[in-house]
Amino acid sequence: MRVSLFEIAEREEQTVQMALSAGEIGVSLPEQIGQVESVEDVVLDFDRAWPHRISLHTRGRAKVSIPCSRCLKDVEMTLPFAGEETFFEAEGVWSGDSEDPTSTLSDGFLDVDELLLGQLLLEIPSKVLCRKDCKGLCPVCGQDLNVAECGCNRFVPDPRMQRLLDVFSEN
Ligand SMILES: [Zn+2]
Ligand SMILES: [Zn+2]
Repeated sequence: MRVSLFEIAEREEQTVQMALSAGEIGVSLPEQIGQVESVEDVVLDFDRAWPHRISLHTRGRAKVSIPCSRCLKDVEMTLPFAGEETFFEAEGVWSGDSEDPTSTLSDGFLDVDELLLGQLLLEIPSKVLCRKDCKGLCPVCGQDLNVAECGCNRFVPDPRMQRLLDVFSEN
């Protein structure tokens, strides 16, 4: 979804609130991170207290499904997110204060999906486990060790220990 900052700036009201329904939002995660099931309760609060300047507070929550870091089983979780951004207008050109405003702003149109994605990405945990004691997958045959033990020899010697063993076997 795109919102025109020119249009927001021309409004009579000092504050403009937009509540977006799930159907208006199209946020998707990079495939290697996971899947967005739904994005809900998104509210955009535009405040144009100063001329040529709009500050935007965003909040919402996303239901996402992210693979377990050990066994790759999908783990569903709800992540609330929020953010704040300020946009400035000079001679008919809008710019933002974020590090990379070009990805969310072009010709005065704000790419809301891109903005929400950036905020959601900050909330994605770096490590996701399906359960605290997840045993993961067997590195030899790929068996899910939570389901069954495959019997593979998964002993990987410490490289320093291996050198010591090599020395012994040489003699
Ligand atoms: Zn797991
Ligand atoms: Zn195995």
